[in-house]
Amino acid sequence: MGPQRNRISGLGCHAFSFKVKVTFTQVTEIKIQEAIFIMSEPAVKRTMKSNTPAYFRKAVPAFLFIFCLILPALSQQADILLKGGHVIDPKNGIDSQMDIEIAGGKIIRVAPDISSQDAKRTVDVKGLYVTPGLIDIHTHVFVGSGQGFADGFSSVSPDDFTFKAGITTVADAGTSGWRNFPVFRKQVIDRSQTRVLAFLNIAGNGMTGFPSEEDINDMDTRMTSLVAEQYPDIIVGIKIGHYRGNEWTPFDRASEAALIAGVPLLVECHLPFLPLEEILKRMRPGDIYTHSFCVASDRECLLDEKGKIKPFVAEAKKRGVRFDVGHGGGMFHFDVAIPALKQGLIPDSFGSDLHRSSMNSGMKNMLDIMSKYFNMGMTFEDIIFRATWNPAQSLRRDDLGHLSEGSVADIAVFSIRKGTFGFVDTGGTRLNGDRRIETELTIRGGKIVYDQNGISATGRIDSQGNRF
Ligand SMILES: [Zn+2]
Repeated sequence: MGPQRNRISGLGCHAFSFKVKVTFTQVTEIKIQEAIFIMSEPAVKRTMKSNTPAYFRKAVPAFLFIFCLILPALSQQADILLKGGHVIDPKNGIDSQMDIEIAGGKIIRVAPDISSQDAKRTVDVKGLYVTPGLIDIHTHVFVGSGQGFADGFSSVSPDDFTFKAGITTVADAGTSGWRNFPVFRKQVIDRSQTRVLAFLNIAGNGMTGFPSEEDINDMDTRMTSLVAEQYPDIIVGIKIGHYRGNEWTPFDRASEAALIAGVPLLVECHLPFLPLEEILKRMRPGDIYTHSFCVASDRECLLDEKGKIKPFVAEAKKRGVRFDVGHGGGMFHFDVAIPALKQGLIPDSFGSDLHRSSMNSGMKNMLDIMSKYFNMGMTFEDIIFRATWNPAQSLRRDDLGHLSEGSVADIAVFSIRKGTFGFVDTGGTRLNGDRRIETELTIRGGKIVYDQNGISATGRIDSQGNRF
């Protein structure tokens, strides 16, 4: 809906009434532009010159400017008010009870005790935690009817799994390459409610398996960087993943494409014949190493045989290389993750490596990984930081992972359930725990997309069928 103009004949100019639900910033911007436009209309200028004293002519623009600033605040109505929750927003240093107003798909106000009088819908979230929507930086969601991952049945549809875990943004970890990225975009990215970002595989057709995925002739630095530059809103990095040779050419081409496009390199590290020390040395600050906490045949462990962090790993971490969990179906072991955490190698993000054969194993979703770390001793606040603002930084997306006023309303609401729980790694080892993080509500772009217990439902009924 656009602005509605009402002519106020006595002033010979326009005033504007807004009944629309857009953000304060948007409204203000439009109003200032409109005011400047009207003041510059020749008829208005002529009328003012002939009929008004000079001091009044100067005062009118200032008055209009102030008027434009004040009016939207008076006329704005919230679509949703989240009331009484414990807000954790690490970017803005908020860790206390706050209310959040949402309108036009954006967060318009975060403050204690906002009146529910003007909100279209108030959701009582007292006793629950309200955080930015979670970001899973390692998924495989280029789902299709083919074999394997790229355009295949081994990938999954994001909306089927994200919202029930409080996730509003995923990054696909190089399931597509520059050749089939347009298909991925059309088939999944544009049709999903979840925000889907992507690392582009250096292999032209992405994850097609052996031998095509390992064909060096189809690892094109120029085309990969060009396609990455063509879609800066979606492509957040370049991936090197599966390569079983001992040449550095695939790695270096991926790294160069990332450098040209100005995005990070994601090392999915199924690179059995490339030594870890050299891999980490070749990674730049901000590049991401995933599948970090596992014992696997196709990579060297981050810990030595005594369970100590290898010095070159600590050095890479210090230099700004980022370490993602990348749990998957076989890439997370408590025997590595617990000693690493104790020694300060804390994951920068909780990437799930979501795909068809990982999601029903030890790894259920990213929230389950977060619960694992909660029971391993990490604080809830730190977990939320590493599930929201920190992964947004890994993806170099400052617009995501926080609850700033004016930002997109991607929000999750969680409860912490106490009880007796078990958490399983990909080696079949169980960790006993007493806390589990559970999703109550997920909001994506200002719309409620998941509500576990109906806390936002507008009607109530008892088991006898009586409405109340
Ligand atoms: Zn993966």
